Amino acid sequence: MLTDLSKVRNIGISAHIDSGKTTLTERILFYTARIHAIHEVKGKDGVGAKMDSMELERERGITIQSAATFCQWPPDPKAKAVMAVPGSPIKAQHHINIIDTPGHVDFTVEVERSLRVLDGAIMVLCGVAGVQSQSYTVDRQMRRYKVPRIAFVNKLDRTGANPFRVRDQLREKLKLHPVMIQCPIGLEDKLEGVVDLIEMVAYTFHGENGEQIERGPIPEALHPLAPHGHGGTLKELCEKMREEMLDQLSMVNDELTEAMLEDKVTPELLRKCLRDSVVGLKCTPVMCGSALGNKAVQLLLDGVCHYLPEPRDVENIALDLDKEETPQVLSSDPNKPLVMLAFKLEDGRYGQLTYIRIYQGTVRKDDFIVNSRNGKKVKVGRLVRMHSDDKEDILDASAGDICALFGVDCNSGDTFTDGTVNLAMTSMFVAKPVISVAIKSKDSGSEINMSKALNRFTKEDPTFQCWVDPESAETIIAGMGELHLDVYIERMKREYKAEVVTSPPQVAYRETIGAKTEFNYTHKKQTGGSGQYGRVAGYCEPFDGDFEFVDEIKGGSIPREFISSVEKGFKSMIPKSPRLGVPCVGVRVVINDGQSHAVDSSDNAFQEAARGAFRDFFPRAKPRILEPIMKVSLEGPAEFSGNMLSLIMQRRGIVMGSTEEDGQARVDAEVPLADMFGFSTPLRSATQGKSEFTMEFSKYADVPQTIGEELLAKAKKAKEEAAKK
Ligand code: GDP
Repeated sequence: MLTDLSKVRNIGISAHIDSGKTTLTERILFYTARIHAIHEVKGKDGVGAKMDSMELERERGITIQSAATFCQWPPDPKAKAVMAVPGSPIKAQHHINIIDTPGHVDFTVEVERSLRVLDGAIMVLCGVAGVQSQSYTVDRQMRRYKVPRIAFVNKLDRTGANPFRVRDQLREKLKLHPVMIQCPIGLEDKLEGVVDLIEMVAYTFHGENGEQIERGPIPEALHPLAPHGHGGTLKELCEKMREEMLDQLSMVNDELTEAMLEDKVTPELLRKCLRDSVVGLKCTPVMCGSALGNKAVQLLLDGVCHYLPEPRDVENIALDLDKEETPQVLSSDPNKPLVMLAFKLEDGRYGQLTYIRIYQGTVRKDDFIVNSRNGKKVKVGRLVRMHSDDKEDILDASAGDICALFGVDCNSGDTFTDGTVNLAMTSMFVAKPVISVAIKSKDSGSEINMSKALNRFTKEDPTFQCWVDPESAETIIAGMGELHLDVYIERMKREYKAEVVTSPPQVAYRETIGAKTEFNYTHKKQTGGSGQYGRVAGYCEPFDGDFEFVDEIKGGSIPREFISSVEKGFKSMIPKSPRLGVPCVGVRVVINDGQSHAVDSSDNAFQEAARGAFRDFFPRAKPRILEPIMKVSLEGPAEFSGNMLSLIMQRRGIVMGSTEEDGQARVDAEVPLADMFGFSTPLRSATQGKSEFTMEFSKYADVPQTIGEELLAKAKKAKEEAAKK
């Protein structure tokens, strides 16, 4: 069990695609002696980097799933192949959990969950390209979740690399407060290491994998940008940079300002002030190196220990389910009641593997834990610490830690407690899917695999749903966007060997009613012997919610035993509206009269009567078709802002705001989902591939009349065709 939380770091590594996140992660695992060889990332040797276990990820280069892995820094002194930073004040071993964060915005549930469980992050930037489009996305997420971070300027061995430019971009484009705490020694193919501006010492990296670290005085070298016309020596530059570092940091840290006035600045004090300001989200330290070139990754690990928060530095909030989800602050105390979050599931050889973050209390092997979602009690059979695909059995784990459970059946996002509290880490509210696609397996082998895959995905992601349409017998999958579904279809193929064909995506329309309308309907049938009879009367009215049934019958005009039949009949109409065949929302049905027959009335007869009444009043109740409206943001170079605006206009969009800053334009709009299919292609061609967009569900709104008429005509035609068959 971890007793000293000050030595625990739960971190994420985030980056624009191709800035070197995978390479960096693998180097970290190597220097911490978790793996014993370095493989090239997109594995020419067929092995591939450890963290990149999904084939799809490897091919697309985007990280879709989050995996957690742990390592220790400084490395175990017994591990001969690697060493700690010489002269480093970090002596005690720190326990670092690395959570892989998916950078893509469409997977909101995954992104949010992985951001929840981490306390700090390394933001990797390419030393040449600097702040790129996804850096903005990542930045937004980090801001939203208040994640303190260190910026790591990678790839300084590449031609054209310039850490000073990247620092300026962090300030100007991302509006961060960057503080450079290192200066590279040499650049491009001359990169040898870095100078630590806090201690004013130089580190260079040697040996086959940069595992030999040399510490020494600042060498008599030239300014790293000397080949680009910058004069001066490295030493002069470092002195200037140190002044700048003190200036920048003192702007956000009074303790340092005071110490500077009293001339009492020591490396220890500097590190403490920097740590306080990072944890307080006041500044972002900028560190330098090259993951592929094996330069300075070990110093970055020291930086993680020095500057990123420990679990107690971060406030975590749970919702009290006994008190209408009122927020409650948790404490990272191992002796308090257990609260932990299942943030990721994986299918293992021995059953389901569930990644958990413990926020409060302690979990032990053989303990009984309770799932807050359904009250189910389960036993902790095996508790393991994960290292990508390898695992190590442990006996217990406590607040602040991340580990995994074996063989516990649950969904991703579930909260577990010891049963003495009724808390949940996430709201029970789940967004309803807005888009659906019918899928069919290509062959019988695929069919079994497809259902296995669907079973898994629906457990992982509450916004992903699937069902079999009773009329067409087709399997329908539904989710929060086109890309969301695409990824699952791709995963079915890669991970489950299930080849599927898809129909074009369908917007999840809804139908509602617009006016209070009375009904009085009699169901009467005489077929041979016993007949069927039932009469229901009352009214329907618009209502804020999905569906409500109210019984106001007095005097028993419908016998008690048939009231539930009537309710059942109305309820059965809700999933498929009479006109369009889409879910009905906002309907309240009130019954206040009716009639029965001593012989011919039955459960079935009253259900039929209710269905008949629904079909009768719905078209008269001023029905309205609703469509999902998405919140869309476009970002790209300002020269394309006109093109971006017109793309929105062409799609029935309403521009909510547009801004231009530092040559970057941003357009926020609301656009019907029906008009957003395949949007990335026109966006790419209108902006030379230099813009990106994000999209999330906003609300349901009325469709314009002409489109409503088209939809109804289409539905009618489909019905007629189905009838012919
Ligand atoms: P990711 O997409 O962010 O995970 O990036 P990868 O780790 O897959 O790296 C993308 C490419 O950049 C690969 O070809 C790496 O070999 C290369 N790369 C990563 N780090 C460095 C570096 O420090 N210097 C150079 N020159 N190339 C690097």
